[in-house]
Amino acid sequence: MMSELKIYNTLSRTKEIFKPLNAPFVGMYVCGPTVYGEAHLGHARAAITFDILFRYLQHSGYKVRYVRNITDVGHLEHDSDDGEDKIEKKAKLEKLEPMEVVQHYTECYHQAMHKLNVKSPSIEPHASAHIQEQIKMTETILKNGFAYIIDGSVYFNVEKYARTEDYGKLSGRIVADLLSGTRDLDGQKEKKSPLDFALWKKASPGHIMRWDSPWGEGFPGWHLECSAMSSKYLGTHFDIHGGGMDLMFPHHECEIAQAKATNKIAPAKYWMHNNMVTINGQKMSKSLNNFITMDQLFTGTHAILERAYSPMTIRFFILQAHYRSTLDFSNEALLAAQKGYKKLINGLRILNNLKYTGAADSLKDKALNEEISKLCEACYEGMQDDLNTAITIASLFNLLKKINQFHTVSLDSGKLEQNIFERMIVTFKEVTENILGLSEEKITDTESLINAMLSIYKEAKEQKQYDKVNEIRTYFKESGLAIKDMKTGIDWAYEE
Ligand code: ZN
Repeated sequence: MMSELKIYNTLSRTKEIFKPLNAPFVGMYVCGPTVYGEAHLGHARAAITFDILFRYLQHSGYKVRYVRNITDVGHLEHDSDDGEDKIEKKAKLEKLEPMEVVQHYTECYHQAMHKLNVKSPSIEPHASAHIQEQIKMTETILKNGFAYIIDGSVYFNVEKYARTEDYGKLSGRIVADLLSGTRDLDGQKEKKSPLDFALWKKASPGHIMRWDSPWGEGFPGWHLECSAMSSKYLGTHFDIHGGGMDLMFPHHECEIAQAKATNKIAPAKYWMHNNMVTINGQKMSKSLNNFITMDQLFTGTHAILERAYSPMTIRFFILQAHYRSTLDFSNEALLAAQKGYKKLINGLRILNNLKYTGAADSLKDKALNEEISKLCEACYEGMQDDLNTAITIASLFNLLKKINQFHTVSLDSGKLEQNIFERMIVTFKEVTENILGLSEEKITDTESLINAMLSIYKEAKEQKQYDKVNEIRTYFKESGLAIKDMKTGIDWAYEE
């Protein structure tokens, strides 16, 4: 029978059998985007990774509350406590209100995710709407003795926390190493230690996004929002916390410290991290000019791109690699993904017309029945093994080979038991569409098809093939279109 779902827990560095704290309910929190720029490939990979987890848990019968936040405040450049707020910087550059920047890029992100067929999370809280919760959490951490106030800012005391707790466990870092690595770079005089991080930061006179607090006007530290919002919506101890690997340190490490300093319990049972996207082997970055946004991919408008790639091609490309492996972008890899995607979609089309020939029992092929059964099982086995979509896709292709044989009648479907035949169809459809979220991209350029039909219509008319003429007219009518025979030529219009 089906094996149990195993997921790799970054915290224990092993694959563990997934056991929810309160089955059938599952709480998962994933760090969402900071909305000051266009959605890019990195966003797509993280969102698709956890979309797969969300879909698969639901498929497995769990009731999932999936929380993915929008970071729209207090996220400073270079992940330090100094520097400019990224959203404010963009707002000043474009002469906009910070919240206009937030609104615009939140919409860009949603549109890109919608095209990629990424399901909306159950709750999508904004950091700016949870300032009170963040202030309250800061107060509790102060009260519990793990933070200190200096000149209107509040800092988390990492060294004190690390005396009793394992700071660095998640990311595999050691406090002493961190200290020796940062001492020289320490330009932040007011903190007791360079490892300490801001829970609340006093706003400088020019800072636009600011709120009242018991310590004066300021804004929350970046790490705090996820702690405040995850505990608000999922409780102090929930099942899964996810995000990109680049967030493991310091962001997630700090989240653990904040949560433990507040609630005396680690926030999540399982930590999951997706790996990064590289471009032709290099890290994606603005300075290398290889930073590709989703819109550029969809329209083919970046210098690196040889052509446009459809959202489903990109989704397929991302799913072809296991989420913990790096994924290297190249035009060749995208073209191969496009081919693979179309192959699967053609499989879906074949399935819709595949008929069971239902031969007599004596013709049943036991070995073939077993083979199809195993191929179906393999599709789920890949998912059960830490969501290995690469294996699942390979298994789907193996199943597709058989489906094609039934389609071309080189294999007789009557050799299968009816339930095995049905299972083959259900498995292929369910895994492709519901679990992997790959849907058929319909050709949207209908104009060229209509024009081709009209030229056939014109030819038929000239040759007085009235049956054909009527047939085409009827077809247009049924599609809600009308053919217009005019002195100047033939045109079409929407049927009024
Ligand atoms: Zn976060």
